Amino acid sequence: MSETMLQLDDVNVSYGKTQALRGVSLNVDQGEIVGVIGPNGAGKTTMLDSIAGYKDYGGSITYNGTETATVSSGKLVNNGLVYCTEDRDLFPYFSVHENLQMGAQFRNDDGIQDSFDFVYDLFPRLDERRKQEAQTMSGGEQQMLALGRALMSDPDLLMLDEPTLGLAPVIIDDISEAIKRLQDEGLTILLVEQNSTFALRHAERLYLLEQGSVELSGSAEEMRDNDYIRDAYVGVT
Ligand code: ATP
Repeated sequence: MSETMLQLDDVNVSYGKTQALRGVSLNVDQGEIVGVIGPNGAGKTTMLDSIAGYKDYGGSITYNGTETATVSSGKLVNNGLVYCTEDRDLFPYFSVHENLQMGAQFRNDDGIQDSFDFVYDLFPRLDERRKQEAQTMSGGEQQMLALGRALMSDPDLLMLDEPTLGLAPVIIDDISEAIKRLQDEGLTILLVEQNSTFALRHAERLYLLEQGSVELSGSAEEMRDNDYIRDAYVGVT
């Protein structure tokens, strides 16, 4: 039986009087790709922010059995819980290579060069542009860089917030190939996407979040076959 890495139980989060998450429970087991889909404002980013320690929450969020609120954000990264945010958070004046280096800043193992090799092999476009300033890269290249930087932190569980947002189909295909390769490597991924088609393609199990609540969950097959998902979400990106 696979081990649960991430467990949310009855998680509630508010911004003042706005309740953004309402009793959210979900789990991610080792080696899985779990998708969370839902419309604008459903609470997807709030959920990832809470897991990463950026937002106070009620209820329980554990990563490898430890309540995340009791651990600093930096320590969570050290422990392998790595968050690639929707904003990408790149260092605009740093080069591609320097941005990747920043991803490894908290590591003290001897695998950093292997991670560089892996990322440059995964995204040859980054390899070709090692010295280019991040701010001069296209949106798609910046997304690759954000993903590459997250991989430089040597994640055990990678949280991706809307990795396809605003990208051209041809770049989405590159991101798709990269995720398939990470899946083959056995990386555990929590994939948050408004692009349901993309999430259904990659995730083994999915949750539908609407207005802060989990409204549906199931295997990719069950979710694809669900009339509500098909009518309201598939093809609507
Ligand atoms: P999107 O796909 O548009 O990013 P989302 O599913 O990630 O949406 P959240 O960004 O988590 O949704 O927002 C959930 C709810 O919380 C929304 O009603 C939003 O307006 C509200 N919210 C988010 N951030 C804040 C904030 N800093 N202050 C007040 N309300 C906020």
